[in-house]
Amino acid sequence: MPQLVAPVKTLRNECVVFTGKIHDMVRRDAFRAVRAKRGKPNKHVNDMTTILVRGTSPFWQYRDYGLKEELVADKIMSGLDIAVIDADSFLNLVRHNKPAQQAKTIAGIPMSELVSIHDEALYAEDEPVPRGSVDEWTGVRNRPEQAQLRTIHLKGKASAKCCICGNKFPASLLRPSHLKRRSECSNREKRDQSNIAMLMCETGCNAMYERGFISINNEGEVVITKNGQTTVDLRRKLKELRGRKCRNYSVEQEPYLDWHRRTVFLG
Ligand SMILES: [Zn+2]
Repeated sequence: MPQLVAPVKTLRNECVVFTGKIHDMVRRDAFRAVRAKRGKPNKHVNDMTTILVRGTSPFWQYRDYGLKEELVADKIMSGLDIAVIDADSFLNLVRHNKPAQQAKTIAGIPMSELVSIHDEALYAEDEPVPRGSVDEWTGVRNRPEQAQLRTIHLKGKASAKCCICGNKFPASLLRPSHLKRRSECSNREKRDQSNIAMLMCETGCNAMYERGFISINNEGEVVITKNGQTTVDLRRKLKELRGRKCRNYSVEQEPYLDWHRRTVFLG
């Protein structure tokens, strides 16, 4: 098993998954290269995965990672030991036996933070139980944070409405977005799971919120940027959202929204 920070020196007995394009290497050849080093290539991330090789993909529109990497981040948070290495390091390892350095950030979250989430006792016994049924909550208390947020906000539904635009999407295109940037949250705030996040669509609302093109005022309505650099098409999209009442807005979210308006919103 790879250590969390040590370079990966060998693929022997490692379960290797690829995400994105590994330069010009087709997947079949990448799998062959892994087998030649006595490793076990696999198409999908699962509990056996020990190494993710990160290539590039034009489909990751808003970020530099895809769903497999997000899944790996979840698994690391839940305590699995998975190394992420980039395409160049992988090629250097299989072709020249050069140790591969691990990525410091996985799915946009620093490795140290992913590990500390796991190490930290997530829910102390005296924590107040969030809103929602207690059964629902006890059922999820030991699951990784992102999975817990999904359970709380999606409630197991296969599709739901985006809180910002109000459009209905399949669950795979919705995420519980942190209203206050996660890295800025105290542990107490991270545990305030029903208020710290809102369900936003990955077709635009989440990215526009994270980058400050939109925010939410203290009446729970969408406000749009006047100062941010936009285009005619973005302007049109923003205008459609202006003044919309956010679904599931609650006054308990106000401290997080206030942080966003002051810190992230482009104004
Ligand atoms: Zn949306």
